Amino acid sequence: MSEEKPEILAVHKQKLEIFLRELELWEPLMKGELKCVACGKIITVDNIGIIIPSGENIVFCCSNYECLYKMRKQQESGLQDVDQ
Ligand SMILES: [Zn+2]
Repeated sequence: MSEEKPEILAVHKQKLEIFLRELELWEPLMKGELKCVACGKIITVDNIGIIIPSGENIVFCCSNYECLYKMRKQQESGLQDVDQ
């Protein structure tokens, strides 16, 4: 039931671009300036997992299962000490 078709993914990426442009984060993403808050890996369009508003900042997490798991745990206990 969770089959993702390439076209849907493309639309998803377009929406992501619009969303990130609004936040002025598209350029940093393209320049490789955004890092996964959990593992420090550079976030790209292909490995972007989740985008989490954290106070005035926005943090990114890559699509790595372990990172997503860590983020979920962190969110449960409240975000803290988030490096940019
Ligand atoms: Zn990560």
